[in-house]
Amino acid sequence: MQRYLMLIDGADVPSASGEFFLSDNPYTGQNWAEIARGDVRDVDQAIKAAHTAFNQGPWPELTASARGLLLYRLADLIEANAEHLAAIEVMDNGKLLAEMAGQLNYLPAWFRYFGGLADKIEGAVIPLDKKGYLNFTKHEPMGVVAVITPWNSPLMLLAWKIAPALAAGCTVVIKPSEFTSASTLEFAKLFEQAGFPKGVVNVVTGFGSDVGAALVEHPLVAKVSFTGADGTGRRINQAAAASFKHVSLELGGKSPNIVFEDADLDAALSGVVSGIFAATGQTCIAGSRLLVQQDIHDVFVDKLVKMASAAKLGDPTNPDTQIGPICTEPQYNKVLDYIRIATEDGATLLLGGKPASPQPAAGGRFIEPTIFGNVRSSMRIAQEEVFGPLLAILPFSDENEALEIANDVRFGLAAGVWTKDMVKALRMSERLKAGTVWINTYRAISVMSPFGGYKDSGLGRENGSAAIREYLVTKSIWINSGAETANPFVMR
Ligand code: NAD
Repeated sequence: MQRYLMLIDGADVPSASGEFFLSDNPYTGQNWAEIARGDVRDVDQAIKAAHTAFNQGPWPELTASARGLLLYRLADLIEANAEHLAAIEVMDNGKLLAEMAGQLNYLPAWFRYFGGLADKIEGAVIPLDKKGYLNFTKHEPMGVVAVITPWNSPLMLLAWKIAPALAAGCTVVIKPSEFTSASTLEFAKLFEQAGFPKGVVNVVTGFGSDVGAALVEHPLVAKVSFTGADGTGRRINQAAAASFKHVSLELGGKSPNIVFEDADLDAALSGVVSGIFAATGQTCIAGSRLLVQQDIHDVFVDKLVKMASAAKLGDPTNPDTQIGPICTEPQYNKVLDYIRIATEDGATLLLGGKPASPQPAAGGRFIEPTIFGNVRSSMRIAQEEVFGPLLAILPFSDENEALEIANDVRFGLAAGVWTKDMVKALRMSERLKAGTVWINTYRAISVMSPFGGYKDSGLGRENGSAAIREYLVTKSIWINSGAETANPFVMR
């Protein structure tokens, strides 16, 4: 059994309680690691370390260019350790090694992109409407950031937050998901090697109700950057409001993949399958609602069922495997619950609908790729995020009806549109209430392109140059350069 400690103030430390919790391998269901179980005492220690590192010592003394160079060095170290990090994530999360290899190849880009931005955080000189003053702005780092991540893509979603936070000059306390803490702790070892001063990056492991909640409530935390479920996001937003903390929330989705009759059907098919079955549907951007125009509905659905039924479930380390296990036990039960709910609500089961039998490994958590037809927008399977390999198909007659169905959910993270008519595609992109709209593609992500949700899918944006602003506060500085002494009782 591998044992993991936490990272606080540059040292690997056990938790104050001395307790550990277990982490299992979703492919086999076997426990493989024990993780230090932090509580409010560890949170307090880590935040104090991050607060000290923010205010004193080498970190605030670094030039912005020197901060950027540290991020570049970290990117090089990620490259050098990519295979090891991928292997840990596969073991802890059940993600396919092929997908992790792709993620790890791309991960350094976050640290290079934001490392390059570190010394381009420029203020402005304001041409005031008052004579006799020089007024300029500075963008300063917010302070200590609590970074709370989910289990589905631990390293990538962590990079989306800490690359801009560190580039901005903040310090961080990271709390990974209790289901997948190992890769974050392995990754955290690279910060010292890269030359980051102690206390700039800290990791406290444990459960949401104690470690997560304590981070959000701590008075020395300036900002909470969270990715996870919408219910948790709502609780965090409410708790953070009590002390007026800044908050970024990347939450769930119920994204539509909309296929018009004039689409390139083979391309659409591949996009729909990747949208819901890649990463076993455990992605916030899962295209979990397929909206198909009536004229092509039957043909398209037939092809889709054939393609999905041929998908290979199996060992995540095998390069031929296409669908891996469900990451956590509660998530496995949740997906099975939604299969039952969809059936009770009157949807028609077209494919799957049960645990894989036999399981690719004894103790594994595999569910067959599952497709429901005849879904109505009011059904729970069309409204609620399942976060698994479960697709709901809704037919539509024309563009207006497609839009009505697509926007008829409380989420608004992403949407896919498949058509050869670019004018129609553009109209759809303008009217879809979603933070990302993909036209004739799906699941495309870049460090350079802003990502975030409308409606209940979240607040704030990650990726893209503006994301660094999520970790900065603006200060306005006034210098009297000859303004006359004015009446002290009148506003200048
Ligand atoms: P979750 O909300 O259960 O947990 C996320 C993190 O929050 C974990 O680290 C957890 O320990 C912590 N947490 C739980 N309760 C807390 C509390 N009261 N205070 C502070 N922290 C607390 O989510 P999950 O099940 O790990 O992840 C799946 C969800 O994440 C899905 O809804 C998915 O859509 C969403 N997600 C969103 C994005 C995005 O970018 N929009 C990306 C990936 C995942």
